[in-house]
Amino acid sequence: MAQAFTADRVVTPQGTRRAALLLEDGPPGEPRGVIRAVCEPGDLPANAEVIDFGPYALLPGLVDSHVHINQPGRTEWEGFSTATRAAAAGGYTTLIDMPLNCLPATTTVAALEATRDSAAGQCLVDWAAWGGAVADNQADLLPLARAGIAGFKSFLIYPGCDGFSMIDREQLERALPAIAESGLPLLVHAELAGPIERATASLRNTDWRRYATYLASRPDEAELEAIRLMIRLCRRVGFRLHIVHLATAQALPELQAARAEGLPISVETCPHYLHFAAEQIADGSTLLKCAPPIRSVANREALWQGLRDGIIDLVATDHSPCPPAMKCLEEGRFDLAWGGIASLSIALPVMWTGAAQRGFTLQEIARWMSSAPAALAGLSDRAGTLEAGREANFVVFNPEAEFTVTPERLHYRHAISPYMGEMLRGAVEATYLRGEPVYQAGEFIPGPRGCEHRLR
Ligand SMILES: [Zn+2]
Repeated sequence: MAQAFTADRVVTPQGTRRAALLLEDGPPGEPRGVIRAVCEPGDLPANAEVIDFGPYALLPGLVDSHVHINQPGRTEWEGFSTATRAAAAGGYTTLIDMPLNCLPATTTVAALEATRDSAAGQCLVDWAAWGGAVADNQADLLPLARAGIAGFKSFLIYPGCDGFSMIDREQLERALPAIAESGLPLLVHAELAGPIERATASLRNTDWRRYATYLASRPDEAELEAIRLMIRLCRRVGFRLHIVHLATAQALPELQAARAEGLPISVETCPHYLHFAAEQIADGSTLLKCAPPIRSVANREALWQGLRDGIIDLVATDHSPCPPAMKCLEEGRFDLAWGGIASLSIALPVMWTGAAQRGFTLQEIARWMSSAPAALAGLSDRAGTLEAGREANFVVFNPEAEFTVTPERLHYRHAISPYMGEMLRGAVEATYLRGEPVYQAGEFIPGPRGCEHRLR
């Protein structure tokens, strides 16, 4: 029997309207899981088994192209089972795991296989892997590409924890031919050490409990200089460049100009840069430490404008959890605390709260948080939109609901969050993976069904 889902607001690339998702017929008793058609509810086959979500919105399952799952090796920070549980509660159906913080870091095929082993049977939603391009693994890059990673990640500055080396310009130039040959994107943490070292040297004997100290230690110039370097290399070598977690809006004009030249550059920012602002961060609030740092109110509004103008393509969480002690909450010192913000389970409401206030629609949310990250990771043929031929991965979303963030809402390993206590708009009612619920009415459906997307 055919299976179908209807709702008053189905978000598709062509618009948001009352519609039906009709799934492919599968063999009896087998999960079906693929969309056969998006149609008028009146056009469904008479024998279709229909679930009607009424006034709710159906969005394509979200794709988070920037998550630190930390397993194997630092599973006490996070892990596949807890991260994918938080993802399911947050409306995400695919996570792409960053190659660092896990041990071994994903910089060789053997390390990739170790990550695969640790993920097996653990995942509520799908995942894929980024591989690292580090100081000394140029010979591992093409083998990693052939083994099925979605692309590469590099740090132009010390990444904050051991096990993954930063890459300098010379090493990067040695790595780029293989990266270009792979056709996969290079994701870059774009901050250079020079401006940060100069700024930090002038901050000796200052109070590291003050947010202003931390902000001054990581100036806009660190991002700007790194982005300029990457644009020059992209122009010269011709690889796909992706700037992760853009925090400074000052880089937007140069990124826009580089794209106007035809360079294959994409840009990401994160919910925390669009939600918080430096002026509102209390001293000692190390839950808000991340790198690059959260900047001014004016900068935040300019980032929203960057999304509006299409210079910023996508929003990814940079979900980067750690054990609570590493946030140094008692000392409140920004120089000692771990930099990273975890938000997988609430990123959609965080984004919808800010987007709705500024006149954006669910259509744009679906582009920033599903189709654009799916395209970055090479997954457009299976995920990222509600269209015929794609997997029936979707979020049942109540855009009008409001709720207060509490620890019970978080679901990742350590329930700490700078969003705690905030009133947010929009609630995930259910998340479906290949036509089956993985999260519904506050409950997880047992039986891990997530699998790895391999790109080759
Ligand atoms: Zn990150």
